[in-house]
Amino acid sequence: MSVNTTLEARKRKPRSVKWETELLEVIDETPDVKTFRFEKPNGWNFAPGQYLMVFFPEIFGKKNRAYSISSSPNSEYVDLTIKLYGLFTHYMWTVNEGSSWTLRGPYGHFVLDQKKDNDILLLGAGVGVTPLMSMVRWATEEKSDRRMLLLYSNKKTKDIIFRQELQTLERMNPHLKIVYTLTRLASKLEHNWPGLTGRIDADMIRREVIDWQNPNAELATSFSCGPVPMLNTSEQVLLELGWPKEKIKYEKFW
Ligand SMILES: Cc1cc2nc3c(=O)[nH]c(=O)nc-3n(C[C@H](O)[C@H](O)[C@H](O)COP(=O)(O)OP(=O)(O)OC[C@H]3O[C@@H](n4cnc5c(N)ncnc54)[C@H](O)[C@@H]3O)c2cc1C
Repeated sequence: MSVNTTLEARKRKPRSVKWETELLEVIDETPDVKTFRFEKPNGWNFAPGQYLMVFFPEIFGKKNRAYSISSSPNSEYVDLTIKLYGLFTHYMWTVNEGSSWTLRGPYGHFVLDQKKDNDILLLGAGVGVTPLMSMVRWATEEKSDRRMLLLYSNKKTKDIIFRQELQTLERMNPHLKIVYTLTRLASKLEHNWPGLTGRIDADMIRREVIDWQNPNAELATSFSCGPVPMLNTSEQVLLELGWPKEKIKYEKFW
């Protein structure tokens, strides 16, 4: 990319800003995941897949944490969907609607190209689905023709974040296919589980991608977000399947 096109791309990228805002709503998603909802500032936006930095200066000083935005850029809200884990998240679980949050962003290059309608392969595990959800919501609202395959792994059915909404999106969007897999299911029959079982591994990716991809179309861009072994495996399998490296994107949460 020439210097000029790099500058052009920078100019087009949403500018990062820091602002203090009130928490509008808290939505319980699963036993240990909540969505924290904020009003979107006027004139500010982000690209599907980007993240914000969250600060609580009075509690944690300059410390911060990154959170992918799970809502669509079309929404009047900014949603952060967060799993209970350690220092920051335990504090978040104690705050109420109306509490003050400091947010800064947007950041990140794990973004959907909103100008190009190419197919996308989405691999998500657990709360790693958040940036992918923003992409799926946005592409469905835009009535995009791009084909999307979401391969989504969770421990148990109760852990599937956005399950109902994903089912609705799949009904609304003929180009969206979602394949669920559960890693901690004792028996498929006992739980009447129609999806796959086991982690997203090389065989599962190969099987699902070969089944889904359109050999006559341009190769999809892949977006993976989840544990490091899943990111490494997906990269390796996609390279083997002929994906160029620049079409394999991933986001590491920890
Ligand atoms: C770009 C980016 C986007 C992110 N988006 C999200 C998001 O949308 N939702 C979300 O819930 N988190 C997201 N995270 C993770 C988030 O920033 C925090 O790391 C997480 O919330 C834990 O913060 P904490 O202060 O509660 O835990 P800490 O007190 O920081 O936790 C202690 C340690 O546990 C590790 N850790 C934290 N969570 C896990 C986990 N689930 N599994 C294994 N190890 C873990 C951390 O690396 C840290 O070393 C994202 C991180 C990045 C870098």
